[in-house]
Amino acid sequence: MAAGPAPEARLLMDKQTFLDNFSNLDYPRKTYLCYEVELLVGENSIPLDEYKGFLHNKGAAMGLEHRHAELILLERLASWNLDMELRYRITCFTSWSPCPDCADELVNFLRANGHVYLRIFAARIYDRFPGYEAGLRALNAAGAEVAMMTLQEFEYCWNNFVDHQQDEDKPFPPLDNLVARSEELSQRLEGILQNQED
Ligand SMILES: [Zn+2]
Repeated sequence: MAAGPAPEARLLMDKQTFLDNFSNLDYPRKTYLCYEVELLVGENSIPLDEYKGFLHNKGAAMGLEHRHAELILLERLASWNLDMELRYRITCFTSWSPCPDCADELVNFLRANGHVYLRIFAARIYDRFPGYEAGLRALNAAGAEVAMMTLQEFEYCWNNFVDHQQDEDKPFPPLDNLVARSEELSQRLEGILQNQED
């Protein structure tokens, strides 16, 4: 098995990129997604640091093919060839929740990969396209845990995916209203997931 990069060599996200894109008070165009994988053994979970990183969606600008962040993650996942005999948990921290099409793709992936559990923590609810609520419900029904990022997840991302340069111990700077907004979004998500219509 090829060794992954040493943890210190892992690419980290620029501080301002994180703050700009994960703020739940703004509406940035890009989607950033941090991911990590754990191997589940009995009651234990073992972090697999070689599968830890972040990515962002590819816009259609400059003739590049438009690809949503979740589809890029699914491509990476396929390339990892996770052992079908083992159980894994993938945790995503995403700046926007999945759109209906990506929710469909993730549901298909989960149906075909019963050995993989998925958790998605989103900073914001992506409600631009109709059907987003049904997409989130379908993900939930397929066994994925879907939740909003709370202060705990913002701090976790800050400590695990963001480059603090020389200032290793610099704590996550709590943004005004971030917690209140997160609670508001959590209530909204709860309503979406509990609604049985359409
Ligand atoms: Zn999408």
